[in-house]
Amino acid sequence: RPVLQVNGVNKIYGNGTVALKGADLTVKQGEFISLLGPSGCGKSTLLRIMAGLGEVTTGTVKWWEQDYDVVGSKGRKLAFVFQNATLMPWARVRKNVRLPLDLEHAGNSEEVEKKIDDALDMVGLKGFDESYPRELSGGMQMRASIARAMVTEPNLLLMDEPFGALDEMTRNKLNDDVLKLWQDNGWTIVFVTHSVYEAVYLSSRVVVMAARPGRIVDDIKIEQPFPRS
Ligand code: ADP
Ligand code: ADP
Repeated sequence: RPVLQVNGVNKIYGNGTVALKGADLTVKQGEFISLLGPSGCGKSTLLRIMAGLGEVTTGTVKWWEQDYDVVGSKGRKLAFVFQNATLMPWARVRKNVRLPLDLEHAGNSEEVEKKIDDALDMVGLKGFDESYPRELSGGMQMRASIARAMVTEPNLLLMDEPFGALDEMTRNKLNDDVLKLWQDNGWTIVFVTHSVYEAVYLSSRVVVMAARPGRIVDDIKIEQPFPRS
């Protein structure tokens, strides 16, 4: 069953830039899709439109085969991980991870606290819940932002070059961990990258985009785990 369907989407920005031309993409449950292409080909534009963060010029985006407006914000649970961790610097890690639950007015029952513990545990941050973001390494801050994204158990995780700001070794380690989390938990992920290596190494499907005029030019299935050596 498709989680999300993008059909014939064109996006022209106010200044006349054509960012997407006839984009079609169906995201099925359990897929790990990489959106791959050079800088400026429209990857972020497509991801933002999938997240409901940007308007289409023409075309449709459907969630569970229904219009966004029909499903409403409760029905389309998605999480977005940005290139930077975007943690609240004045709040401890635990409070940062709790944010989406607070926005849902989940309270602080034992069940809610367990969800936070599980999310921190999942990303390897057990024991760091009372730390402030500045006390953590860049990689650990990104881990915290993944925990924050997943604490509400969203149906779809969108990541926009999430580890692009990190050094290569930390990035590789986080990529391995995201791959494992996807394999273990059956998440549905769309991941933006301009690295062929990352796309092939990580995802179950590579959607290739070309610059000018922002078209999807290829769609390749990959058997994971990709042979490592
Ligand atoms: P990518 O993520 O692949 O680098 P983007 O989706 O960010 O590509 O951008 C696609 C094209 O749209 C680029 O030419 C970019 O300059 C342009 N663009 C992106 N955002 C805006 C905006 N808010 N206003 C005008 N042009 C934009
Ligand atoms: P990563 O960010 O991918 O975990 P790092 O090289 O940044 O990798 O850190 C390696 C390990 O060192 C971390 O997993 C963590 O256990 C520990 N570490 C890093 N920074 C700190 C810190 N500020 N306080 C305590 N332990 C830390």
